[in-house]
Amino acid sequence: MTTNSIQQTDILVIGAGMAGVSAAIAASQEGAKTLLVDCSAVPGGLATAAMVGTFCGLFARHQTQTQWAFKGQARALAEKAASVSGSETASWKNGLRFLPYDPQALSNLLKQEICENHIHYLPRAQVKGICMAAGGVSEVHAQIDGATSTIRPACVIDASGHALSHELAGLPTMPAIAHQAAALAFSLEGLPTDMDTLPLQIMTGIHRGVQAGKLSAEARRITITPGSLNKGAGLFKFGIPPPSPATDLGSLKAVTERVIDDVLIYLRREEPLLRSIALRETAPEIGIRTGSRPVGQVLLTDHAVRNGLKPEDGIAAGVWPIEFWDTAERPDMEYFEEEDYYLIPAGSLVSACANNLFFAGRNLYAEDRAHASARVIGTCMQMGLASGILAASQLHGTDMPSAIATIRERQLL
Ligand SMILES: Cc1cc2nc3c(=O)[nH]c(=O)nc-3n(C[C@H](O)[C@H](O)[C@H](O)COP(=O)(O)OP(=O)(O)OC[C@H]3O[C@@H](n4cnc5c(N)ncnc54)[C@H](O)[C@@H]3O)c2cc1C
Repeated sequence: MTTNSIQQTDILVIGAGMAGVSAAIAASQEGAKTLLVDCSAVPGGLATAAMVGTFCGLFARHQTQTQWAFKGQARALAEKAASVSGSETASWKNGLRFLPYDPQALSNLLKQEICENHIHYLPRAQVKGICMAAGGVSEVHAQIDGATSTIRPACVIDASGHALSHELAGLPTMPAIAHQAAALAFSLEGLPTDMDTLPLQIMTGIHRGVQAGKLSAEARRITITPGSLNKGAGLFKFGIPPPSPATDLGSLKAVTERVIDDVLIYLRREEPLLRSIALRETAPEIGIRTGSRPVGQVLLTDHAVRNGLKPEDGIAAGVWPIEFWDTAERPDMEYFEEEDYYLIPAGSLVSACANNLFFAGRNLYAEDRAHASARVIGTCMQMGLASGILAASQLHGTDMPSAIATIRERQLL
């Protein structure tokens, strides 16, 4: 391995998931020279690599009306994603609403947004080391095409989805107490187009196969991503019991793919209406819901989420219920009052240990059940905008209360 370039930047964003891209857009629009790095080849993080398929956390829970939960940049990005996907808001159970999207179209949209906002984007750049000096991050080391690049940022936003910056810098982290179920998404084509009962048909077919002993019981963990059926194609998820951090995800993916193959062979053979179904694509990554989190200045507690607390320094509105996946079959849903919401305090996105380090997205400082609500894409995008403005404000010497006021004005209703 060789060491080559040294790069200076105002703001380094680690991770080009929905939170990282949102943070980079906000930072760049605030006039900061912004570098966005991600170890993947395409932007979007779990939203594209794990083919999640639906934006949750955009709308207040309401039985009859679609009410946006926030405004501004995050809302505009969600609306553009719907437009390029040709999708519309869909309603689900108990007044929940979400927006389906096409992962490929989203990935193209994000590339365009990165480009139009003059963000310096480095895909396939893996952050491997962080050095601290004078109480802050001084250098970040990334491996790009077999060479190590040194980045010297004024501020860092860690949107890596797990406590990467704190782990690499040896700063305190908060491990997830309970691991949650993961999932492998896949898409099918050749589905009948003229059947309202298609989801039921597939589930009944799988159920019959399991009962007859022709499919293993785990086949029951296949679910249809709501709102994804379109022109004979659809997105599905195969639930995987909570993996531990030591699990070999490559082997687990291969085993899961074999089970999916068995199910498809069975359905084609035994279910006349599903004779033409074929696997279109399997997600590049198994989707892991939670990991360790960095220690920030203010903890988003389970209590705050359950009780809809709205602190004065709240910068992002959380509307999705606590969706806790302790088994691979279905989540334990914990709802708060209809139309109610909680606010994520700015301090959950500010490192308690490094004076120029911010967090965004599912990498916030939160307790387990609070995290199981705040990690949805709508909330992650809002946190992205917030941390982009917080970092840019620090760079420009603006005090924290003024930065928080700006975020609230731009984003909260
Ligand atoms: C199975 C599953 C189903 C889900 N379903 C839904 C749903 O239906 N609706 C919904 O709204 N949400 C859903 N979620 C949650 C949601 O998808 C994620 O929480 C959200 O997308 C997280 O966005 P993020 O930007 O914070 O993090 P991520 O999407 O995890 O992005 C982090 C990025 O950081 C990069 N990175 C990590 N380490 C490094 C490194 N060392 N160097 C460089 N880059 C690095 C990664 O490559 C990644 O691109 C689901 C999650 C899972 C796992």
